[in-house]
Amino acid sequence: MAMQREAGVQDFVLLDQVTIEKFMDNLRKRYQVGSIYTYIGEVCVSMNPYRQMNIYGPETIRKYKGRELFENVPHVFAVADAAYRVLKQRHQDTCILISGESGAGKTEASKIIMKYIAAVTNAQGQNEIERVKNVLIQSNAILETFGNAKTNRNDNSSRFGKYMDIEFDYKADPVGGIITNYLLEKSRVVQQQPGERNFHSFYQLLRGANDNELRQYDLSKETSKYHYLNQGSMDILTEKSDYKGTCNAFKTLGFQADEVQTIWRTIASILHLGNVEFQTIEEELVITNKSHLQSAAKMLQVTEAELLTALTERTIAAGGNVMKKDHNATQAEYGKDALAKAIYDRLFTWIISRINRAILFRGSKSQARFNSVIGVLDIYGFEIFDSNSFEQFCINYCNEKLQQLFIELVLKQEQEEYQREGIEWTNIEYFNNKIICDLVEQPHKGIIAIMDEACLTVGNVTDETLLGAMDKSLSKHPHYTSRQLKPTDKELKHREDFRVTHYAGDVIYNIKGFIEKNKDTLYQDFKRLLRNSKDANLSEMWPEGAQDIKKTTKRPLTAGTLFQRSMADLVATLLKKEPFYVRCIKPNDLKSSTVFDEERVQHQVRYLGLLENVRVRRAGFVHRQRYDKFLLRYKMISQYTWPNFHAGSERDGVRVLIEEKGFAQDVKYGHTKIFIRSPRTLFALEQQRNEMI
Ligand code: ADP
Ligand code: MG
Repeated sequence: MAMQREAGVQDFVLLDQVTIEKFMDNLRKRYQVGSIYTYIGEVCVSMNPYRQMNIYGPETIRKYKGRELFENVPHVFAVADAAYRVLKQRHQDTCILISGESGAGKTEASKIIMKYIAAVTNAQGQNEIERVKNVLIQSNAILETFGNAKTNRNDNSSRFGKYMDIEFDYKADPVGGIITNYLLEKSRVVQQQPGERNFHSFYQLLRGANDNELRQYDLSKETSKYHYLNQGSMDILTEKSDYKGTCNAFKTLGFQADEVQTIWRTIASILHLGNVEFQTIEEELVITNKSHLQSAAKMLQVTEAELLTALTERTIAAGGNVMKKDHNATQAEYGKDALAKAIYDRLFTWIISRINRAILFRGSKSQARFNSVIGVLDIYGFEIFDSNSFEQFCINYCNEKLQQLFIELVLKQEQEEYQREGIEWTNIEYFNNKIICDLVEQPHKGIIAIMDEACLTVGNVTDETLLGAMDKSLSKHPHYTSRQLKPTDKELKHREDFRVTHYAGDVIYNIKGFIEKNKDTLYQDFKRLLRNSKDANLSEMWPEGAQDIKKTTKRPLTAGTLFQRSMADLVATLLKKEPFYVRCIKPNDLKSSTVFDEERVQHQVRYLGLLENVRVRRAGFVHRQRYDKFLLRYKMISQYTWPNFHAGSERDGVRVLIEEKGFAQDVKYGHTKIFIRSPRTLFALEQQRNEMI
């Protein structure tokens, strides 16, 4: 029971007024005493403490196991338990959606949730289930090594989206899982912002591997020697021990020795590629750093000549004829970077497929019918940088989709419950961001469609023409504007700027690079090169390299369209599940455990729609509880129900209690639950109860 006294109210619906000031007061008060979790009904608002909290141990886990939300102080464990109980008791799929901006604590929350689920399952200690749990937890180490990087916002920022289904058998023990990854920020492989780093994997290899290993990869310990690393920060994090952790995780997950070799060799190949330079001397393209070319070829297990050709020429098939065309230095440089990015991207996806193989549910089909899943979504939060490009556009679109889902599900869930229980209900209004989703994704008219059209046009279509096309068809859209459309707008500084008014705020994007990033072309020569690698694992990552050059192939889908489709799939998956929400907030931009930055926090509270969330919750019924549970909790406050109620059903008992206390006007009686409208009533009940115990 909630004996602990905490600052403020544990559920924002209990605020005496729903204003931003009151909301902020409560959040601040709680944060200052280390109460980082607060509810809005079943939604858990989480503040990043930026320090180790002593609230995740076995003792705490025991307290939350099998308990209702209100029985303990707010905790993400309680949400995990609620999701797990729905699955266990009703065999209903659930999902936990974790949102918030970069550094707000999403990935930590997802790990805490997995740890909790691992801790409360497999009471009988079966080996196979233990193995699955280990694999699920250790997979994080690998994902973080290859998918996370130090950014200016977060030292361990996930640069990909992750959705993980954990599968449970009929006894509700975890028996498998599957991870889906979304859009890795691969541009980071070749270029980093000042103060930021490349993916952790590179530093782990250089700083963690022993001399012998490094010799194998023709690498030296000095990160500053490598062009793909020396543009950013040289900070040393914990990669020495992390490298060992990654290697151990590979073992736990059953990666074969040759697979691990492929992975590190591929990482090394990228570092070498980065140091290959091109120059035009007397109209000849020459490579100046031959030793790195040699090493890169060795790592990729292709011949040096093959790699050289792929880097410096392009094969063109026209009218049944195959021709070669030389690159100039700029083209070669561009091709090399594209190759490095593509190799890393494929490697990452391949690693995830290997992890999935290790956690794949192996049960028989008939058994699988009884299986249910808990999905955990940890995906990039809304991003506004000083300069925003195609990547931010995709990430912010993803957040629009998730916000849309939140609106639909939270309302839908509420309304369904009222219907199920036979309670009257009228809809309440709040900002629906569907209009922004449409702006991006509508067929023919949306930004993605316009981009695709520009990319499909033969000839010299520039980013500027693309922007012109967008201006033309979107000039009337209330959430879109551009420099060309509004030359007097001071925020739109560059000719190439356009602004999207997202639900979370205005973002100015610079159109430069959109076409190239959307096309995401990699010369076919590279695909053939890698397909022909002697390394079978590497070759497996490049199936389309086997295509006959003379066959006219369909244009591959654009990056924008692929992303849009993956979002549609994700939403479809989530819609089938009962959702639980963790909304993460970042207290400051300093990674400090003491600073509560009013302005930054308030901004997040606003765009996460938390106030609206509280209002919806209060406009309906702030609290609903099964009659038996309600009686159990409050029977001591009424002479008619204490110690037991005998004069009728549990529903009758609840009615008698409510009428005695004068709350009859504020409640409705459903088929199985009592619904309490105002937080005051709940508050008063709690207070009277506290006085009795
Ligand atoms: P996000 O995934 O939202 O970008 P992370 O989960 O990586 O953010 O959190 C960023 C950092 O904040 C972590 O590396 C950790 O230092 C700190 N942090 C986040 N949540 C917690 C927590 N519950 N307890 C302690 N530290 C945390
Ligand atoms: Mg993260």
